[in-house]
Amino acid sequence: MKTDRMKEFLCGDGRTPKNVFAALKRKLFPALSAAAVFALAGCTTACRGTSAPAGFVHVADAVPDAILEIRYYSTYNFVGDRIDGYEAPTALLTVEAARDLKAESDDLKKQGYRLKIYDAYRPQRAVTHFMRWAKKPGDTRMKACFYPRLDKSVLFAQGYIAEKSGHSRGRTVDLTLFDMKTGKEVDMGGTFDWFGIESHPGWCGDPQTGKYTGKAPDGAPSAERRITEAQFRNRMLLRSVMMKHGFKPLAEEWWHFTLANEPCPDTYFDHPVK
Ligand SMILES: [Zn+2]
Repeated sequence: MKTDRMKEFLCGDGRTPKNVFAALKRKLFPALSAAAVFALAGCTTACRGTSAPAGFVHVADAVPDAILEIRYYSTYNFVGDRIDGYEAPTALLTVEAARDLKAESDDLKKQGYRLKIYDAYRPQRAVTHFMRWAKKPGDTRMKACFYPRLDKSVLFAQGYIAEKSGHSRGRTVDLTLFDMKTGKEVDMGGTFDWFGIESHPGWCGDPQTGKYTGKAPDGAPSAERRITEAQFRNRMLLRSVMMKHGFKPLAEEWWHFTLANEPCPDTYFDHPVK
């Protein structure tokens, strides 16, 4: 009841949130600290039905230029079902990760790009769903789309699926670039969640130097799957801007980045995405 009254006060009189908080501070809580007022701002978010847990923000709020295509809320993913814990087509990140992503987004916008986000914070229950799927060898509904050349049984051994994911710490994001001139995703020579060596940033080039070689690494499958120099350079553009803003890349996936400075590297959250 108390909460309902607070919501009514905050949302029911047509005032803007900014004015409401000013009124709150002036009339009800003259001694309220700026931090406490900021904390109360979560209630206006709740009024819109999109509350984020403490320490997290919605990417759509923090990085309004980003385009969201949350694959695990849909059935277009390697499992083929909506993934547990995804209750809305939205993305959450910790405040720190979202802040740095915003800086990156602003940087790229000047170059004619937007960020397209496939996944961000991922609840532990979603990772558990992946594990459950992995233990059903006969369920290969999405093999043709995401792992046509790999047997499902090797996805764990080759590091594409793990029992714990850095995404569950809220500081990791899967994303690509969207070209504002063409109105299309930038051609990366592969797609998000493609399980295969072609997704490695080192495929056909050296990510340390940014030099394209056009050669597959030793022992790799045939050259027909090589990416072009333009595709390699697009991957390197995303990578260089992410690293400039404090994110570290992954050796297996060109689309996956984690904020480098993690204060709690062993903390895995399980609140749903909504
Ligand atoms: Zn990822």
